[in-house]
Amino acid sequence: MSHKVLVTGGAGFLGSHLCEQLLSAGQEVYCLDNFSSGRRHNITSFEGNDSFHLMDRDVRTPSSLPQIDRIYHLASRASPADFQEYPVQIALANTQGTRQLLDHARACGARILFASTSEVYGDPEVHPQPETYNGNVNIRGIRGCYDESKRFGETLAVAYRRKYDIDARAVRIFNTYGPRMRPDDGRVIPTFINQALNDEDLTVYGDGEQTRSFCYVDDLVDGLISVMNHSNPNYDVYNIGRANERTILELAEEITELIETNSGIVFEPLPEDDPTRRKPDLSRVHNDIGWYPEIDLSSGLENTISYFQEHEE
Ligand code: NAD
Ligand code: UDP
Repeated sequence: MSHKVLVTGGAGFLGSHLCEQLLSAGQEVYCLDNFSSGRRHNITSFEGNDSFHLMDRDVRTPSSLPQIDRIYHLASRASPADFQEYPVQIALANTQGTRQLLDHARACGARILFASTSEVYGDPEVHPQPETYNGNVNIRGIRGCYDESKRFGETLAVAYRRKYDIDARAVRIFNTYGPRMRPDDGRVIPTFINQALNDEDLTVYGDGEQTRSFCYVDDLVDGLISVMNHSNPNYDVYNIGRANERTILELAEEITELIETNSGIVFEPLPEDDPTRRKPDLSRVHNDIGWYPEIDLSSGLENTISYFQEHEE
């Protein structure tokens, strides 16, 4: 069945892959983006498709939106490197922006999926992190504009669900990587790949013993669509990501093994509130939705490296 689907943040990394998948499944896609961290060339390959409609706007400002069936709310800068420069924009995209979209979902009778994050767990004291863990966020810290606004975005979605009975869902996305990330985005995988391709030393923050678990974008987009499309899920929030925990030092070594490079490793100070460990507990999404990621880290890294070699150098 063809739906009219609004994707906010559709010109960004995850959003552009999502738009592409939805178009190839025959959906009518409305992409809303203010191009703050998104890029036009992420969407050029399908901009000529008659089922694709671009709206160059800010999600925070109320304005007439088309009548739609489904909303994926992804509009928010997501790189910790941006948290210092754009804290207000980020906090409001996830709160004020979420409110606009929840109101619109209510008016249209649409289903809405909010892109939350593993950052709602902050620096977790529970490992791996299940959806039932309430997290350990420093609300006044440098990452608070992002972490806490995602938490409030979820709270607002739950409030609308309870009060107005709308079908509002959330996914807590764990670190995802792949083609179309910006090389200067600041997140670890594009940074390391770019450094290695340019024979620059890889900048490992702290001692590199902090961990993350990395999911390839195709798997992640499949997870977003699976949670959205499930007709009657038992929960309204799911972790999505991949549980392949690595230290950042291991990641740096893996990348320098895949790229022929003269790069070494330099250690730089660890940013404030950088989480020590992160790994999703995926049992809920696996058991209830039947989704599980398939692409291993080395294949995903190889695809991402090829993209950077072809498109970004
Ligand atoms: P991205 O920066 O590539 O994409 C974000 C998009 O949103 C960009 O196109 C940007 O221009 C747009 N945007 C930002 N603020 C906006 C606003 N006020 N109005 C309209 N458009 C706006 O980042 P991404 O990695 O693709 O992240 C997409 C979503 O997924 C974000 O909500 C992010 O918090 C969430 N997420 C991503 C990851 C990840 O690892 N990639 C992890 C957890 C959560
Ligand atoms: N990191 C690093 N060097 C970099 C960029 C990031 O060592 O050039 C580390 C960062 O301190 C964090 C991890 O890599 O521990 C993941 O950072 P990223 O910004 O990708 O995402 P986060 O999970 O922190 O939101």
